[in-house]
Amino acid sequence: MFNYHTKVLKASKESVKLAGELIRNGEIVGIPTETVYGLGGNALDPASSKKIYEAKGRPSDNPLIVHITDFSQVDELVSEVPDLAKKCAEIFCPGPLTMIMPKNDKIPYETSGGLDTVGIRIPSDKTARAIIQAAGVPVAAPSANLSGSPSPTEAIHVYNDMNGRIPLIIDGEHSAVGVESTVISFEKNGIRILRPGFISPEDLTEVTQNVIVDDGVIHMIDNNTKVSSPGMKYRHYSPKADVIIIDGSLENYNKFICEKADVDDWCMVFDGDVISVPNKVIYYGKNSTDQAVNLFSVLRQLDELGVKRAYARCPEKTGVGLAVYNRLLRAAAFQVIKV
Ligand code: AMP
Ligand code: MG
Repeated sequence: MFNYHTKVLKASKESVKLAGELIRNGEIVGIPTETVYGLGGNALDPASSKKIYEAKGRPSDNPLIVHITDFSQVDELVSEVPDLAKKCAEIFCPGPLTMIMPKNDKIPYETSGGLDTVGIRIPSDKTARAIIQAAGVPVAAPSANLSGSPSPTEAIHVYNDMNGRIPLIIDGEHSAVGVESTVISFEKNGIRILRPGFISPEDLTEVTQNVIVDDGVIHMIDNNTKVSSPGMKYRHYSPKADVIIIDGSLENYNKFICEKADVDDWCMVFDGDVISVPNKVIYYGKNSTDQAVNLFSVLRQLDELGVKRAYARCPEKTGVGLAVYNRLLRAAAFQVIKV
C-alpha cells in the first residue's frame, strides 16, 4: 500500500519549495519544527488528512494540529477567537503553543478528528515557517512517528518510521525543544492545559491566574472515557523496552537498583548522577529543558541497544519538567515506584 521512494533532503531554498509544492498537491512531507518533526499535509484537504492517519497508523479520532505562520490567519479557520487566545498569541506566538478553538467549515472533520474544534499552532522554526509559506495553505501536522512510538526529534527518526510511506523528509536541525507543543483550551475565565509542553503552567499565568492542568496530564485515562484531548488516552511514546519510573532521591534510587534490579536492567538517569551499581547507564539530561530535548532520542536508543528494562529517575514535575514527566509516564505505561 505504501510504495514511495522516500527522499531525505537537507533544508534549503529548493527543498523547501519542493516540500511546499508536494503539500499543496495533496502529498504529505516530514518537516522539522522546534517541538518535534511533523508529518505535514494540506489541512483543508480531507484526502491529505486521511493520508496522514494512514502513514502514522493513527486512530482517526485523534485530531491533527493545524499550523499557520501568523495569528491573523486564524480568522479564516475558526468561528470565534477568545480574548485569552489573543493575549496568548501576543506573548507566546510564534512558539510551541497549540490553542484549541471552535473550527469553521473550512476545516474538514478529517482534520479535526471529528471534533467541532481545531488546534492552531504558529511554529517559530524557520524551516517549518518557510515550508508552510511555500505550501500556501494551512498545514496539518502531527508528530512524524508511527503511532505509539517515541516522537521524532531528528530527520533520521522520521526516516526510520516513515521510509516508503511518504515521498519526502526535510532534514533540519535537531528539534530545539524536543517535546510536542503545550495544548490549551479556553474556559470562561481561564486556560486549561490538555497537554504540557515547553510553555509551562507557570508561563501561562502571565495571561491569567486561572490556569488549570487537566487531570489527564498525569493520570491514566481508560480507553472508554470521553476526554477533552483525545490524544491523551492512547498509549504513547513507547519504546519496546519496559520503562519504569523511580520517584525519589538519587540515594534511594541507588539503593533501589542495588536491591531490586537484575544485572541486565539499565539505569536512565540525569547527567551528573553518580550511580554506584554495576548496571549499564544512559543519561537523559541535566535539567528539565535538557531532558525535554533528549528524552525521545534516548527512548529510541533504548531499543537500538536492545534494552529489555530501564529504570528512569523521575523528572521534576514543574515548569518544562511537567512535559517531560507527562511523556515519560506514557512511555512507562504509568509504572511509577516511589522510593
Ligand atoms: P500530535 O499531533 O502528535 O502532536 O498530537 C496532537 C494532540 O493535540 C492530539 O493527540 C490531541 O491530544 C491534541 N489536540 C489536537 N487538536 C485538538 C482538539 N481540537 N481538541 C482537543 N485536543 C486536541
Ligand atoms: Mg504525536
